[in-house]
Amino acid sequence: MHTISRRDFVRTAGALTAAATIAGASQAVAAEGTDGIAWDHETDVLVVGCGTAGCAAALEAYDAGADVLIVEKYDWMGGTLRRCGGGVAAADTQVQRALGVKDNPEDFFQFIMKGCEGYPNEELVRDWTMNSASVIDWLIDDLGGLPADQWGFSDDIEGGLEYSHDTGLNVGTPTTFDEIGMSPVPRTHWFPANEDDPILAEPEKYFYYPSPGGTGLWQLVNTAMDKRGIQTLTETTFASLITADGSNEVIGAVCESGGSEIRIKARKAVILACGNFASNKELFRNYTGEDYEPNAMGGMGIDLPTDNDGSGILAAQALGAELVFPSLVGKNHDTPTGFSAGMAGVKVDLNGRVIDVFGKEIPRLYAAGLTAGGIIVKNYPCCGSSVSRSLYFGRKSGTDAAKLESWS
Ligand SMILES: Cc1cc2nc3c(=O)[nH]c(=O)nc-3n(C[C@H](O)[C@H](O)[C@H](O)COP(=O)(O)OP(=O)(O)OC[C@H]3O[C@@H](n4cnc5c(N)ncnc54)[C@H](O)[C@@H]3O)c2cc1C
Repeated sequence: MHTISRRDFVRTAGALTAAATIAGASQAVAAEGTDGIAWDHETDVLVVGCGTAGCAAALEAYDAGADVLIVEKYDWMGGTLRRCGGGVAAADTQVQRALGVKDNPEDFFQFIMKGCEGYPNEELVRDWTMNSASVIDWLIDDLGGLPADQWGFSDDIEGGLEYSHDTGLNVGTPTTFDEIGMSPVPRTHWFPANEDDPILAEPEKYFYYPSPGGTGLWQLVNTAMDKRGIQTLTETTFASLITADGSNEVIGAVCESGGSEIRIKARKAVILACGNFASNKELFRNYTGEDYEPNAMGGMGIDLPTDNDGSGILAAQALGAELVFPSLVGKNHDTPTGFSAGMAGVKVDLNGRVIDVFGKEIPRLYAAGLTAGGIIVKNYPCCGSSVSRSLYFGRKSGTDAAKLESWS
């Protein structure tokens, strides 16, 4: 087991400092003795962001036996999961089978790779698409989502071959199938809304989508977290990672809460699930050389205007994380810069472990959801793919993090 001695130091890799010098992604160093740290909270696995990937990670880490704590910057929980359309793309699922739809994971894999013009990390996409049905199984069998025999096609669309946000199964994004020359397959599962969710009464405040199926997904996840007693510190904004001296091993995080700085000890790992940087205009300009105004629909249909300030990506980069940013390499006139730039994220392995610029894993650091790059890049080929991959890899990161031995 790894232990930290009195002589060890703590380094905070500051997101804010790094933000000022993003081109070089410098390290902020505040050295002090480990014993001198007054930890305000302790947990095994600290999850940053109570949204799609974060909740999935928290549930799996908890079920694998770890203590879990989530920090969320808003005074409410659910992230984009709660405000999304509720579509989840997956192949060869129990719902498809119940509706007589023939699909296979290899076609889904080809669809994502071709839809993203070959830019994604093939290994990550293969892992997710080959196993995407597990996300639907989890939502239905484990969390109590609409049983397979109660699903229909959306809006009574014949065979689900047209686009709709209505509850049910449909083709998601017909145009991509046309563009890449594949036969359309209904594989976007639009879950029903929770009509009682209070955010539906205040769309401006919460920026919820016109088709509010995400409230239903959030209800499933939130109920499961409540049952387990998983705690979320709301109005607590992650700022930076704390590492043991002499390495980039992550041992906790600095957050801001009520105007004060708090330090949270993470005995096993920190999982960054706090979105990308599509809403951070300064970072955006640094990377693209262009100005970008999120449109009324949010940054680009997969993020929201105020949420994605890049804090997770910057903190990981300050420890050497590689930024996966292939979307602009092939920038063409059909792809708005904002759309593709927002798909940047840090490099991860199949378990969500963050990989540095030398190809080595950063100890005890994970990223999931939009904080992780390389899965959906260049284009957004299919409605439902962002929630699907965020839940899939969020779950994997939680399971893997829980297996680590504590450093203290
Ligand atoms: C309007 C809309 C509709 C959509 N509909 C669909 C759909 O139907 N299907 C689909 O697949 N995709 C959809 N998407 C995209 C999809 O919902 C998102 O891409 C996905 O949910 C992102 O998951 P995530 O875990 O990365 O982020 P989120 O779910 O947004 O979670 C990130 C969380 O981190 C918090 N956070 C951020 N910074 C900090 C910080 N510094 N400290 C603490 N907390 C922080 C945020 O407040 C948030 O709660 C939609 C997107 C939008 C905008």
